[in-house]
Amino acid sequence: MFAQVIVDVAHSQVDKIFEYSCPDDLRTGCRVKVPFGGRIVEGFVIGVSQNCSFPPERVKPVAEVFDELPALVPECFSLAERISSRFRVPKAASLRLFLPSEMRRGTVREAFKKYVTLSGVQATFQKNANKQREAAEFLSDKDEYEYIALCEKFGAGAVNALIKKGVVCVEKRRVNRNPLGGAERSEELKKLTAAQADAIENIENSQKTVHLLHGVTGSGKTEIYLNIIAREIEKGKTAIFLVPEISLTPQMLSQLRARFKGEAAILHSGLSAGEKFDEWWRLRSGEAKIAIGARSAVFAPLENIGAIIVDEEHDSSYVSETAPRYSTIEVAKLRAEYNNCKLILGSATPSVESYQSAIDGKFNLITLTERINKKPLPEIIIADMRKEVKRGNNSAFSAALREELDSTLKSGNQAIIFLNRRGYAQTVICRDCGYVAKCENCDVSLTYHSEENCLKCHYCGAKYRMLTACPDCGGKRVHYGGTGTQRAAADLKALFPRARIIRMDNDTVSGKDGHYGILRQFAAKEADILVGTQMIAKGHDFPAVTLVGILDADMSLHFSDYRSGERTFQLITQVSGRSGRADDKGKVVLQTYCPENYILRYAVNYDYTGFFGNEMQVRKATGFPPFSLICRIMVTSENAETAVETLKKVYFATEELRQAHPDEFIFLNRMHSPIKKIQKKYRYQVLMRLNTYSLLEKIYDIAVKNSSQNCLAYVEENPSNLS
Ligand code: ADP
Ligand code: ZN
Repeated sequence: MFAQVIVDVAHSQVDKIFEYSCPDDLRTGCRVKVPFGGRIVEGFVIGVSQNCSFPPERVKPVAEVFDELPALVPECFSLAERISSRFRVPKAASLRLFLPSEMRRGTVREAFKKYVTLSGVQATFQKNANKQREAAEFLSDKDEYEYIALCEKFGAGAVNALIKKGVVCVEKRRVNRNPLGGAERSEELKKLTAAQADAIENIENSQKTVHLLHGVTGSGKTEIYLNIIAREIEKGKTAIFLVPEISLTPQMLSQLRARFKGEAAILHSGLSAGEKFDEWWRLRSGEAKIAIGARSAVFAPLENIGAIIVDEEHDSSYVSETAPRYSTIEVAKLRAEYNNCKLILGSATPSVESYQSAIDGKFNLITLTERINKKPLPEIIIADMRKEVKRGNNSAFSAALREELDSTLKSGNQAIIFLNRRGYAQTVICRDCGYVAKCENCDVSLTYHSEENCLKCHYCGAKYRMLTACPDCGGKRVHYGGTGTQRAAADLKALFPRARIIRMDNDTVSGKDGHYGILRQFAAKEADILVGTQMIAKGHDFPAVTLVGILDADMSLHFSDYRSGERTFQLITQVSGRSGRADDKGKVVLQTYCPENYILRYAVNYDYTGFFGNEMQVRKATGFPPFSLICRIMVTSENAETAVETLKKVYFATEELRQAHPDEFIFLNRMHSPIKKIQKKYRYQVLMRLNTYSLLEKIYDIAVKNSSQNCLAYVEENPSNLS
């Protein structure tokens, strides 16, 4: 037999299929080791056949076969093929997406435990073999006992002697390293509301593949997802459940675990290599049927999928910004088509692209306009910060927010304070000469962190000593401007000395359970105020939270990006949605310097359709997506000259394309990227706006052709981050 193998060589441009002779029982989808260019490398078997296109004596044999059960399910091959051609990812790299990285180097294997039992063979013991006799007696009334534990009791020598005599036999069994050990608890099934039941029927009965579940925050979307999954499992199918960031959703996880027990498996970058491996195999072997995870879980090794759910579908984390670059929702669509199953996109604030598809009839639209039990959405109060400044209030907290905080604390409820900047002060400026502290590796200003008393770069993580004087002019008037979460928490402590305040941002969460600890603490009411960045906006359900303060609602409005309005609307709606979810009425104080902005007006009234209509008019008038396609070819290199050289080549090739298709281009230019350097790499870009997707392949061609080890060139489609 011969195997067709794709070799898994990092950075390789080899995207070819190689042939090797192999054992007769080798199956498509297995991972193997093969000789390749004088080395032994890993590879994926993408096919086996009787014949070979070379003279057989020239074909080398497969060196080692990894799996008995093929690691790759049949769907992988067609999906990898489509991902390769759609997003221009090398074949090996797209196959690799289907395997947890821990599996690849073959370093992690299954975990085994040994169990011993009496065999029934009559034992004869020498006089001094007391330990052996005791061990045998100990086992006589037990079904089985763990080998290691028995060795600890009676000594390995005695136990091994019993095994050698045949008195005791050993069985090796696979054990699962359970990442949620002990987290299982049962939960009573909720009686569906009429709106939930209607939504489920609607999804069940629609012939469309993609369903957009647009439901206000607290409308009970989770319960709908769980019911749909349960129905599919009952039909003998499997399901994928995607969330933006899994460590932020412990409540969701425990709900899923409570409902589906061992049938749910979690794919999560925070798991240990062993746990990840086991959860993955539980899915692959069919023991678990529901894959839960962030975007990479869209590649879960499931067959016969009945439903794919993408919660918070508007979230930008669903687009991979590092290689291999892919859109999770597009991949989910491909899988839904292959499996002929449902894809459910859920959000209180759908992306305008998704909502437009729903209006156009491409997606089935389901709308939930009310919270569970008709609870009102929290009232949003606007605090005009210009007036605060005029009144002499230069702090980060408006009078309205302070008052509301005061009464919330007095009533024994909890508050969430949101601001999307971590650290203490965002910029460090010399008031004498205007010097700004910047990172040596990146073209960005440094943030002051009070806890470590240092300056940090948020792009590469580099730390610098805090300034006591300006390094340029020696001036002593160093100013720390722009409030971050550390300062907000410190200021709150000064305002409300008795309040228990906790913070959640990238600095306070570390390790596997970092988020979990903070969220659990807040849920247990061990703190009164939670201060945090956007990670506190995502889906949490804290019943005692009745106040949300948004410190800088309009900051994201000023990003030079066509999505800034959309993102601001989403953020305000999501953060506000954390308030007043249980019995007590909720409030939101939204601080802004531009209260007349239309985005804020729609957000305050929870008017998604109003926002959508207005946003589409703006996008149409200005020719931005979905009325056009923005493409950026990024060029990055540690060597500035190489980057500029490559930029020129990329630009001229694109310019040639434009001359051949003048009607397709709305805009084309080359420039420095807004952030000129990140992690020592210089960044340039060719930016273009196109009328349609028809030239996309040619644009990818240009990038692929000009990309090299020393200078990367890659395409981003409608990038959500244009820095
Ligand atoms: P969403 O995801 O739409 O923001 P959730 O799914 O978190 O909303 O539900 C909001 C709250 O309503 C949760 O506390 C949830 O437990 C509760 N809930 C959902 N469905 C029901 C129901 N049918 N009966 C009672 N409570 C429900
Ligand atoms: Zn840096």
